[in-house]
Amino acid sequence: MSGLPEIPVLDLAPETEALWDELMAAIQGVLKSGRFIMGPNVKAFEQEAAAYLGVKYAIGVNSGTDALVIALRAAGIGPGDEVITTPFTFFATAEAVSQVGATPVFVDIDPRTFNINPDLIEPAVTSRTRAVLPVHLYGQAADMDPIMELARKYNLKVIEDTAQAFGGEYKGRKLGTIGDAGCFSFFPSKNLGAFGDGGLIATNDGEIAEKARMLRVHGAKKKYYNEVIGYNSRLDEIQAAILRVKLPHIDQWNEARRQAAKRYDELLKEVPGIITPYEAPYARHVYHQYTVRVMDGKRDKVKLIIDEQGIGTMVYYPVPVHKLPAYADNNCRLPGAEQAAGEVLSLPIWAEIAVEIQKKVILSLKELPA
Ligand SMILES: *Cc1c(COP(=O)(O)O)cnc(C)c1O
Repeated sequence: MSGLPEIPVLDLAPETEALWDELMAAIQGVLKSGRFIMGPNVKAFEQEAAAYLGVKYAIGVNSGTDALVIALRAAGIGPGDEVITTPFTFFATAEAVSQVGATPVFVDIDPRTFNINPDLIEPAVTSRTRAVLPVHLYGQAADMDPIMELARKYNLKVIEDTAQAFGGEYKGRKLGTIGDAGCFSFFPSKNLGAFGDGGLIATNDGEIAEKARMLRVHGAKKKYYNEVIGYNSRLDEIQAAILRVKLPHIDQWNEARRQAAKRYDELLKEVPGIITPYEAPYARHVYHQYTVRVMDGKRDKVKLIIDEQGIGTMVYYPVPVHKLPAYADNNCRLPGAEQAAGEVLSLPIWAEIAVEIQKKVILSLKELPA
């Protein structure tokens, strides 16, 4: 096989083409203004994102990873602290905990949703636990009510990793607005994506907001009067201008992803050995990824065969975080996450994906050898 797959796992072109003129005008506007750092677009995007999410404060930062690092620090998490999180996520979730000097404590997932199992959190709480860091994986809410209840009981902060779920909901509430802070990524492949790196912290907590604003500019409230050791982590003005063009479309895009997911669900009914995604009754899943389980140990074989037919698929994630070399001294056994890592397969999905493409993807799955 050579070159690009015939069907990519993600096609950003339709979205970019549909908004081309507006995007170009937005980018040119920044170039003409000469204001490239913390200009009017960053401010306006923060206001527009806060209004969309229904939070008091939104703070633009350089990436989703930085959103996590800065939110954790702004919430007072640091050396000696433990943060309970999921092992079935992108590395950055745990990495951020380690970056602030704290220790990630992994608890297993609910195999239906792939998200942290709230029943397993309480047994993992110690005298050093300071926060819970749930991830809304693939665009679906973690079960937040029991997490918030435990947080109140043990006086823990809750930081939501919402990198994959902009606009997703839990019981009608926007994800990233339920805990003390929500962290978003605008990495180009995310369901709300920029044309480069970008991130956002959402919060209703004035103290967290103030600290986060300070930390993103070298720990200074007033320029050149630095109070703490911070970061250079600002949302780029051009990316903010691009995100302002895209934000008004996010609900429509998420709805289109949901429709595409429903079509896959229907088409996959006839395919044995595949478990389709489960949408929890409390969730409005936005299908950042459409991720199935391939049963009977056939995932890698299946992936190879459909890749050879020119259809892009991905495995998010082949190794759970607690098994990665960076956390190798962590001897925990988390069978739910380990099994998921061996079975998951994400199929092509984007808002404008055509039903013909979806049928082709499913056809490639039907023709698999037993
Ligand atoms: C993408 C992602 C991040 C990191 O976001 P970046 O913008 O790439 O730094 C963190 N957590 C999860 C779950 C992600 O998917």
